[in-house]
Amino acid sequence: MADEKKIILTGDRPTGALHLGHYVGSLKKRKEMLDSGKYTAFIMIADIQALTDNAEDPEKIRENILEVALDYLGAGLSPERCSFFVQSHIPALYELPMYFANLVTMARLERNPTVKAEIAARNFEKSLPVGFMTYPISQAADITAFKAHYVPVGADQLPMLEQTREIVHSFNRIYKTDVLVEPEAVLPDDETSYRLVGTDGNAKMSKSLGNCIYLKDDPDTIREKVMNMFTDPNHLRVSDPGETDGNPVFLYLDAFGGPELFSAHCTAYASLGELKAHYRRGGLGDVFVKKLLNEIMQDVLRPIRERRLQYEADKEGVLGLLKAGTESAREQSDRTLAEVREAIGLNYFTDKGFSNAYITRGGAGGDTPNSTK
Ligand code: ATP
Ligand code: MG
Repeated sequence: MADEKKIILTGDRPTGALHLGHYVGSLKKRKEMLDSGKYTAFIMIADIQALTDNAEDPEKIRENILEVALDYLGAGLSPERCSFFVQSHIPALYELPMYFANLVTMARLERNPTVKAEIAARNFEKSLPVGFMTYPISQAADITAFKAHYVPVGADQLPMLEQTREIVHSFNRIYKTDVLVEPEAVLPDDETSYRLVGTDGNAKMSKSLGNCIYLKDDPDTIREKVMNMFTDPNHLRVSDPGETDGNPVFLYLDAFGGPELFSAHCTAYASLGELKAHYRRGGLGDVFVKKLLNEIMQDVLRPIRERRLQYEADKEGVLGLLKAGTESAREQSDRTLAEVREAIGLNYFTDKGFSNAYITRGGAGGDTPNSTK
């Protein structure tokens, strides 16, 4: 075989610029996998999925297409090692969900905990768009159209991967085929990054919740956001004992302040563990910890921002990258689509077996479309 590399598929909704949650939850792992040279990767800007809860505001999606592409490039995803593409220009991603929708029950969709949480967050209980309810099916199409083996995602996506695997099982069993590949989620290395909390202490940093530090934020904005972060509300005086578990400032230090960065910016403590112990005992102020986090954050985000700015100077070129990536994604997914149609038996015009069964052998009064093969 010409190309034995395993395939990665992953993507993001163009509903805003990308933030630290995307970075630790998925982008970091994508970059690591791409840089290893072991994978073929398709990275999707999920504009159709973004329409499922923004149908009345397509301008929001248009203005974020290049933003997300710039964030990818800023985060170091190399365009030589992957195809960046836009979901809306891939016909297979409209057709496959029609087939998959027949293999999923409404009850199963309604049980999906991510969908439940997202419906509640959007106050969709009374006016739920059908497209939003069925987006897990569309996500199964995104993944399987590329025969992806690996999907680097945050933990909120695990129920989606489970749903996709179920669809793959059903499809391959019913149509007696092995066309579809069962994908695996690739989670971040540390649990804090599975679902990074927001700067307000909310369970998830999310564009929709407005509690984000963006990859493109300038140094002053980063400092301001870090200094205003939520901490332990009972840690009122410096001398008070403080809680580090679940405290966003410490969670961010866990996610970003690896031992090297920590010691580069903090000489007063031998390790993050020691710093935490002091905070828990009392006698360590929030301002000290936040200043340290700000310095570390600035180090993490500086190279991303600078790389992003370079690409921002050539947006025409970035659009060209998206166009080329979209063409290659279309070719790849069209091949899968042809195999899927064949597996179901929808290939009437090209299938010798069809002519043999229903034309040559059947003749007038012979096989009807309902006769068994
Ligand atoms: P929206 O609010 O529009 O849904 P979002 O901020 O949740 O946006 P998505 O585009 O839905 O972002 O998510 C893209 C990817 O980033 C997914 O793999 C998701 O798991 C990951 N991700 C998003 N937010 C976080 C987070 N706070 N922690 C870890 N991973 C995250
Ligand atoms: Mg989301």
